[in-house]
Amino acid sequence: MEIIRIPRVMQDFALKEKRRGRTVGLVPTMGALHAGHLNIVRSCRGENDITVSSIFVNPLQFGRGEDFQSYPRDHEGDAEKLKNEGVDILFMPDAEALYPPGFSTRVSAGEIAGKLCGGFRPGHFDGVATVVIKLFNVVSPDRAYFGEKDYQQTLVIRRLVRDMNIPLEVVICPTVREKDGLAMSSRNSYLKEAERKAASAIYCALKRAAQRVAEGARRTSEIRSEMQGVLGAEPLITEIQYASAYDPETLEELQEIDGDALLAAAVFIGKTRLIDNVSIKAGGRRRD
Ligand code: AMP
Repeated sequence: MEIIRIPRVMQDFALKEKRRGRTVGLVPTMGALHAGHLNIVRSCRGENDITVSSIFVNPLQFGRGEDFQSYPRDHEGDAEKLKNEGVDILFMPDAEALYPPGFSTRVSAGEIAGKLCGGFRPGHFDGVATVVIKLFNVVSPDRAYFGEKDYQQTLVIRRLVRDMNIPLEVVICPTVREKDGLAMSSRNSYLKEAERKAASAIYCALKRAAQRVAEGARRTSEIRSEMQGVLGAEPLITEIQYASAYDPETLEELQEIDGDALLAAAVFIGKTRLIDNVSIKAGGRRRD
């Protein structure tokens, strides 16, 4: 595995490979890699000649008072994991390489970015869209891979690709969970032991809500109460930012669940903000 830090070098490499007829897959990450990331890498490897994984903790997508400084970083450990997965190129630029002095362009992620997490993290998805379009231009991937765990992000990126005519396929990979159902996340490392146990309530709430829908519940108010009941019963969950059923395309809260739906939640456990979601298909079947 080769480590490339300079965007221009990455760009030249990718374009050369593509001219030789090779397909390139990109797995963007912020590092502190876990089994969820590595599962995406495996999908990418299976479908492309060259797998590029990027590690970049993108300052643009962190708000003031958020965890940009303390975000877990483990470059050596990550490089080892990616090498073991057979990744061809680790693209690991530093902030100055992607945002040199004078950098001033921002991508505005549009309407979907204002929903759910966007209401609590203003500017977050603009930061995501800006770095993702840069990574796309640097790596020129045929396919780019993202996790369903960050469902709203997948909508923002699909929209970005359509709106900006970016010639690549977006591939979404399923959420990988711990044994107790907690969605894997680099931020789980912030949790103290008791908080870690409490965090399983998030998936528990989503599952219980999905179960209610499977049993025939249709009113979102009922589903919302069910989820908030499970989350609210966990004293270490200090804030519920949202927890309900949403339209999987627009992210508007549903009145009635009469087709596909997204059950999604964002909570704080102490200082740690965690999100998760479960998609349900019309008729209440869970899709995972
Ligand atoms: P991050 O490093 O958190 O920015 O995540 C990089 C990519 O991995 C994003 O596309 C995430 O959606 C995805 N990802 C993060 N956690 C998981 C997980 N538990 N299961 C599947 N994909 C994930």
